[in-house]
Amino acid sequence: MQYRAARGTEDLLPGRMLYWNAMQMAATEIFGRHGYSMIETPIFEQTDIFIHGIGQSTDVVSKEMFTVLSPDAYTKVATGNAERLKNDQRLTLRPEGTASFVRAAQQHNLLPQGGAPVKAFYAGPMFRAERQQRGRLRQFHQIGVECLGAADPFADAEAIIMLMQYLFELGIDPQSVKLLINSMGDDACRPHYREQVRAYIHEHSDELCEECNRRADINPLRAFDCKNETCQHVMKGAPNITDYLCDDCKTHYEQVKKYLDIAGIEYHEDSRLVRGLDYYTRTVFEVQVISGLGAQNALGGGGRYDKLVEIMGGKPTPGLGFAVGAERIMLALEDQGFDLTQTIPPELFMAFTSPQTKAVAYELTLMLRLNGIRVETDYQDRSLKSQLKLAGKLGVEYVVIVGDDELAADQVTVRDMKESTEETVVISDLLDYFMPLDTYEEFFDEA
Ligand code: AMP
Repeated sequence: MQYRAARGTEDLLPGRMLYWNAMQMAATEIFGRHGYSMIETPIFEQTDIFIHGIGQSTDVVSKEMFTVLSPDAYTKVATGNAERLKNDQRLTLRPEGTASFVRAAQQHNLLPQGGAPVKAFYAGPMFRAERQQRGRLRQFHQIGVECLGAADPFADAEAIIMLMQYLFELGIDPQSVKLLINSMGDDACRPHYREQVRAYIHEHSDELCEECNRRADINPLRAFDCKNETCQHVMKGAPNITDYLCDDCKTHYEQVKKYLDIAGIEYHEDSRLVRGLDYYTRTVFEVQVISGLGAQNALGGGGRYDKLVEIMGGKPTPGLGFAVGAERIMLALEDQGFDLTQTIPPELFMAFTSPQTKAVAYELTLMLRLNGIRVETDYQDRSLKSQLKLAGKLGVEYVVIVGDDELAADQVTVRDMKESTEETVVISDLLDYFMPLDTYEEFFDEA
């Protein structure tokens, strides 16, 4: 039997891994410019953190969480004693990063009263037991950004600007995506709006799916998220949040838009954009690819979550953040024509012709690698012809051939693969030959 990766999981092979690393480097650079530092929280947390931090009524919490059981906890569950599990035995693989970040910020007192905002980002795998589709996995990778302690609409705009800059820097074609924004109101205005939507759902209960009807009493706004086409059509007639925003929320939203205008960021207002998770207040946003990716067209999204810290047991603290999905970005780039299977080829291939020259080739390989050059060589005692063929396949620029006759004169042959030319180089000059002079000198100046 041949084993396969578990359903809904994917291996990150070298080409994609290279890109995933580049995504993290770009995040460090771009988010760093905006004052965000990288952090890492554990892959699993106490289940309660997600129940409180994301919300019981969400699909993520009610249907998609992967439970982690230690052997001891497993025995309790298997013997019908699940209720005897202690809190720190109820563990879940993180389905998203925000709740974990808020937990960490509280635990380490990262946000002293009256202090500057805490800005952090993370990159890593997330887990949701969803039905697998193109762009929808059970283990996927997110890069997420969180900011606690800034209520100012400038912080919302800054996050959105950063998100767009980031996607464009990664190669996403600005023409291929659209940015949707909305305000979901706050405690002062949303409850009233919610009631209006609930009443609307009840009025149209015959036309809406069972799930939307069920949602009506728990979290009616989620009906806007329903993937069912009839529901989407019916929900188009539902009351509009923009008509219900209180003055403070209206002003906040206007300012966010003003800052986006100043930055020249194009956006579309979509009063039906209500992000799936319970904790959002005021600004919400999502970046969608215009075509391709089907229902999984969101590359990333986020918003403000001013109630979350309180919900999780802390003092009232404004917050906001977003996350992008690495796999979806990679799919979008491939749809644009990017080849994400490519890896960086070695700069040169070290070939040899006999056991004697092999020993020297080995020494030269080590020496060049120590000096920062990407060198590949043969490990299977192939003929010179096969070695040259392999070098061609690897896409190297140069092949160094350590031949018996040349070696007798302390020389090697350097073949330029692009030009198909060869020259003889004295072994003691080989490093010079491959290192641009200034780098070479700098190297020794520093040493
Ligand atoms: P969310 O945390 O649901 O707001 O998702 C943020 C981003 O993560 C989405 O826009 C997607 O790009 C990505 N994402 C969410 N769920 C999945 C999944 N199951 N598979 C792949 N990517 C996902």
